[in-house]
Amino acid sequence: SNGNDIKYQEIPGLVRYFPLCMKNLHEHLTFDNHLRHGGRMQYGLFLKGIGVSMDESLKFWRKMFNKMTDDQFQKGYAYNIRHSYGKEGKRTNYSPYSCSKIIMGNAPSTGDHHGCPFRHASLDTLTKMLRKSNIKENHVTEICNYAKEHHYQLACTKMLEYVSGINNEYLENINHPNRYFDQCYPNSE
Ligand code: SF4
Repeated sequence: SNGNDIKYQEIPGLVRYFPLCMKNLHEHLTFDNHLRHGGRMQYGLFLKGIGVSMDESLKFWRKMFNKMTDDQFQKGYAYNIRHSYGKEGKRTNYSPYSCSKIIMGNAPSTGDHHGCPFRHASLDTLTKMLRKSNIKENHVTEICNYAKEHHYQLACTKMLEYVSGINNEYLENINHPNRYFDQCYPNSE
């Protein structure tokens, strides 16, 4: 974890510092006002890792899941959020997922948005996602080539280089979504 204390209202403004897997989850959550279990776990634990407390997390998911009643939210979702912060059940303090866990884990099926876009998205979708992140066309091609060659984490590290403008000799190769954020977010390190 880190010393950030992020309020739920700040999360949308931080999305541009998120790796592509988390940008994708945030976008679908915003658009659909919902995410399935795999996506909630992947994104929820990442948010915990960037410094969103359990209380802020509850407020965030409540606000995003605005198509359901408070009762539905409390019964269906609040427990799981508290659980992932170790406040329910066996009180395990769950860690944010690493890239290898996300890349090797269950592939998303239709309607799921978890996973690693460099591994799980079609090249067409990946290209659109990268363009949306304002990556220049020649860099989009370069990043897609890494993905095609199954160098998913190198593709992600290249994206970080272009998004942050930091020279790659100062960047560590991405093996964890939270390390992407730590290196991309100007106030973090
Ligand atoms: Fe996310 Fe890791 Fe894939 Fe990057 S390489 S998009 S951080 S899972």
